[in-house]
Amino acid sequence: MEVQAGSERRSTRRLMVGDVAVGGGAPITVQSMTVTRTADHEATIQQIYDLAMAGADIVRCTCNEPEAAEGLAKIVPRSPVPIVADIHHQYRMALAALEAGVHCLRLNPGNIRRPEHIRTVAAEARDRGVPIRIGVNGGSLHPDLYKKYGGKVTAEAMVESALDEIRYFADVDFDLIKISVKASSVPLMVEAYRQLSEVTDFPLHLGVTEAGPPPAGLIKSSAGIGTLLAQGIGDTIRYSLTADPVEEARAGRTLLEAMGLRERTNVDLIACPSCGRAEIDVVAVAEQAMAAFADRQIPLQIAVMGCVVNGPGEARDADLGIAAGNKRGHLFIKGRNAAVVREDEMVEALVHWAQLIHEEGAEAALARVDTERARREAEKDRDHLLAEQGEDANDSATRIELIHRHAR
Ligand code: SF4
Repeated sequence: MEVQAGSERRSTRRLMVGDVAVGGGAPITVQSMTVTRTADHEATIQQIYDLAMAGADIVRCTCNEPEAAEGLAKIVPRSPVPIVADIHHQYRMALAALEAGVHCLRLNPGNIRRPEHIRTVAAEARDRGVPIRIGVNGGSLHPDLYKKYGGKVTAEAMVESALDEIRYFADVDFDLIKISVKASSVPLMVEAYRQLSEVTDFPLHLGVTEAGPPPAGLIKSSAGIGTLLAQGIGDTIRYSLTADPVEEARAGRTLLEAMGLRERTNVDLIACPSCGRAEIDVVAVAEQAMAAFADRQIPLQIAVMGCVVNGPGEARDADLGIAAGNKRGHLFIKGRNAAVVREDEMVEALVHWAQLIHEEGAEAALARVDTERARREAEKDRDHLLAEQGEDANDSATRIELIHRHAR
């Protein structure tokens, strides 16, 4: 597989969804979708704020009834992010959403089938300068295409569906298009997007549809979206999880940050997997740290390590970390020992020092402490643990001895 860095993405056209650029080398954006009734505009606007806080750049709301379009008219002026109206079956709802002032439409060609209806919507969107996402779904492929490809949903059929749709839009000189070819099968969606990217330069919206609840839904979405992004394909992404949509927005944002495609806005918490040497419940402390940093918007990499024997060395590249040892927490900044705290104050100390580093920088934080003393204390606890646990805390020597006995 050809792996491309973020700067080597396939070039696509750029369009604007409200004030957010999609395609043409713009930062890859995160989308999510509200699950409130759009007609309940207060609940929907609240959820849009929650999604924006969690990392969504663009939010989609269903426009499934006239009351939803009325809700959109109230939501759009108050929304912190651009709004996409999701349209199924009723092209009149697309016209109503445009009237409500939405920044983008999403149409599913599988269920708005009359070309004249598609052209009517496209002409109206063109006159208003509003882009449209052509959202092909493996599960709602046009019956003719389904038949043509042997009663199967194939990547070729999905690409053909998207290209047919583009032609309807071209008939009315409309080209503010982005496209998705989602499927619930990861290999199928990867292949469909890959083929589509070979034949069009419209921006692509990536997603694994109906991925399901976490953790499987997260894994499937990350595998599909991540594979394509690594090949330089994709301009905007959505995780479709059976979960609170805030999880979708967080997951999308985290993926982009992990792949180096967006600037980090929040803590990147790393932690060791724990083992026989662990001096603390690493899982519990890491969870406490995640909760403590949740909304703090501190873009640092922070490590929680189970023991001072190996922790500081393994996480030496982190901006800040803490490793447990002999009922104490050994704090290190950029790989240098900085302070010793009580074991039950480890999370509190991480938050305090992270805030300090964020505000004043790592060097200023290190200048406040006696690094030499902290190093000696860490060394003392390290030696103590080694003396207590030995070099082989995970007892691999005993296991190897047993293997030898069985093998003889
Ligand atoms: S050796 Fe220490 S840092 Fe490494 S996994 Fe075990 S407890 Fe964690």
